[in-house]
Amino acid sequence: MAAAEAPLNVAIVGSGPSGFYAAGALLDRADLDVRVDMYERLATPWGLVRAGVAPDHPKIKSVSSVYAKIAAEESFRFFGNVDVGTDVTREELAERYDAVIYAVGTPTDRKLGIPGEELPGSVAAVDFVGWYNGHPDFADHTFDLNTSRAVVIGNGNVALDVARILCSPPDRLAATDIADHALDALRASGIKEVLVVGRRGPAQAAFTTPELKELPEFTESGVDIDPDQVAEVPDEDGLSRVAKRNLAVLRGYAEDAEAYGERHITMRFQRSPVEIRGNGKVEEIVLGHNELRVGEDGWVSAHDTGHRESVPTGLVLRAVGYRGLPIAGLPFDERRGVIPNERGKVEGAEREYVVGWIKRGPTGIIGTNKKDAVETVTRLLEDLADGSLRRHDRDGTLDIESWLAERQPELVTESGWQLIDQAERTAGEPAGRPRVKLCRTEALLDVALSRTRADA
Ligand code: NAP
Repeated sequence: MAAAEAPLNVAIVGSGPSGFYAAGALLDRADLDVRVDMYERLATPWGLVRAGVAPDHPKIKSVSSVYAKIAAEESFRFFGNVDVGTDVTREELAERYDAVIYAVGTPTDRKLGIPGEELPGSVAAVDFVGWYNGHPDFADHTFDLNTSRAVVIGNGNVALDVARILCSPPDRLAATDIADHALDALRASGIKEVLVVGRRGPAQAAFTTPELKELPEFTESGVDIDPDQVAEVPDEDGLSRVAKRNLAVLRGYAEDAEAYGERHITMRFQRSPVEIRGNGKVEEIVLGHNELRVGEDGWVSAHDTGHRESVPTGLVLRAVGYRGLPIAGLPFDERRGVIPNERGKVEGAEREYVVGWIKRGPTGIIGTNKKDAVETVTRLLEDLADGSLRRHDRDGTLDIESWLAERQPELVTESGWQLIDQAERTAGEPAGRPRVKLCRTEALLDVALSRTRADA
């Protein structure tokens, strides 16, 4: 077969939203004969939709039905439990596929860079999120919830997610697909207050309004806001619509002063973590008070006033953003934690592309990745049309499956994932839960590969 007549073979590494939107954008092209193989390190697909979106946000999670539809297409294959970089290499993928799209996200957390950050009890929100969502990497983590106050650093939606989960009545969470180990720990939790700390003001918070607005309903409690902190903000007329709406919600909380439930959220602004202290574990956090200054370009920045406040706590969660990791052989922007690219084409690479957070940084909502994936796929097809992306010149089709079976005998294909999906949903039915997650790779593989174990 002449190379130009062969189907375009594309590998996508990562099965989160950006990976699936890239697959969808390729498979939607009626003018293109394309085969898509999706590689995933875990035994399960959907990335952050399974392991990042909070369990009490089922509507956001329902986007997985779009991914299931893409996965059902004949020209699509799922290869789970394959670690690109270990089981197969980047070079091997580039040798076999005409194009490789990396949709690997930004798996690690950003650090605060303050003394005491490494003390037990000072944790990344990313780890906590993975734990309550049943991500196998975090299934064996333990978080000491035997403290009356937790402190969450950051004013983004991840900060709200972890604060809300820590303050929600466990019986509400019991109706979700939260990991059972997390539900048990939250039932036994001693936490009464979660203090959410922002370094700038209420008008600079990165929350989205629906996430801010739902807090009293979900936690069955008022939110403690200092009225003085929301009364006046710099340049209120010039604020974005989201910031104005957030401010209105926060002012409502400050005015209402609803009765606090058993567990409640407190929010304080213009405070930066300066030091975490404790004897062998977190016992207190020192916060520095900030004043806000508006720059000539309108940017509002926080400046240390020198005033200090000590807050007793046994658990500090930093929710100050995610960070990407480099991929051996591809360029990496250390400052931004992303792979440098031009509309998705990796700088200097021959046939490698990026989508999602590893392409543009950890911003936006799930839907943002759709437009982002279309941009990368458009670029890929332009490169194909102008000859800068050359298809492999080969006869016949590639026998990827036998190659992979050799590299990873415990390969999870789409039908293996279907078995997991079915088993989890069935386990959830008696309690009216969407699913009961299998949280350990061994257990997932047992189901996917229809294995029975002597010790099971
Ligand atoms: P984010 O939205 O970027 O928020 C990070 C927060 O951390 C900001 O408030 C930032 O403040 C603060 N921060 C950064 N460095 C800090 C430091 N050294 N000290 C104190 N504070 C610091 O990040 P995210 O919360 O991780 O969320 C990532 C993305 O996922 C966002 O786009 C988010 O909307 C999305 N997400 C959406 C949902 C949802 O829709 N339900 C749920 C979860 C996540 P500054 O502004 O001052 O830098």
